[in-house]
Amino acid sequence: MLTPRMARVTVAGPELKGFELTEPAASVRLLIPTSGTTELVIPEWTGNEFLLPNGDRPILRTFTPRRVHSDRPALDVDIVLHTDGATSRWAGEAQPGDPAAVAGPGRGYRIDPGAPAFFLAGDETAIPAIGQLLEQIPAEIPIRAVIEIAHPEARLDLPEHPSAQVVWRERGADESPGAALVDAVRAADLGPGTKVWVAGEAGSLFHIRRNLMEERALPRADVTVRGYWKHGR
Ligand SMILES: Cc1cc2nc3c(=O)[nH]c(=O)nc-3n(C[C@H](O)[C@H](O)[C@H](O)COP(=O)(O)OP(=O)(O)OC[C@H]3O[C@@H](n4cnc5c(N)ncnc54)[C@H](O)[C@@H]3O)c2cc1C
Repeated sequence: MLTPRMARVTVAGPELKGFELTEPAASVRLLIPTSGTTELVIPEWTGNEFLLPNGDRPILRTFTPRRVHSDRPALDVDIVLHTDGATSRWAGEAQPGDPAAVAGPGRGYRIDPGAPAFFLAGDETAIPAIGQLLEQIPAEIPIRAVIEIAHPEARLDLPEHPSAQVVWRERGADESPGAALVDAVRAADLGPGTKVWVAGEAGSLFHIRRNLMEERALPRADVTVRGYWKHGR
């Protein structure tokens, strides 16, 4: 466990030989056995969606490929233990040798090395991606990062970046997911050319997009806003 709120799962196997991460904040799809079973059944693409041979939907979710191991074909994925989800529950209980599969990676974020500054914002699900961005944004570029957490124990040590300021915002019991990020984005002083990267609960991102794209009219190329999960779905 990385924290009581985040489990690090290492997926390993010869099939991962040659798996490379060229960009931060990329994605992989993680497949786990259907609830109540231990066998991993690979789904088939129907042309519309992935389905198991019996017609059920597989448990297939998207995560950030956090780190590729250099000494063996293995990949770390850091999973929020939010208790409501099948993958989250699995991640909290998985034992060495349990079967799982990954597909990917999907495209990540291209860091502009000439950017004057970065503003990063995300909730717990975005912590792995923000960690990678802190590792890979050049040391001299100033970064402000705001991370919304549902519980104080979600806080963890992030990679050091000499020009980064990281603020942790604990969500109030009566606040909806993403509310603290919406406030942080609205209040942010974003100088010209600042690159903005935001990820979190999809509903709250509507307000964030509106602030960045309409109210501030930032250039599209400077703004990346990604829905990582959807409340109630
Ligand atoms: C590009 C990308 C990268 C991502 N990277 C990561 C990552 O590195 N680590 C990570 O943990 N997640 C990451 N996510 C988010 C992750 O895919 C979702 O949180 C996913 O729904 C978790 O699957 P589950 O089976 O646990 O829950 P689901 O079965 O999908 O959902 C069940 C219920 O739980 C709720 N729920 C889902 N996620 C959360 C949450 N985080 N907090 C509270 N309630 C939730 C849903 O609204 C639903 O009601 C990423 C998503 C994307 C698109």
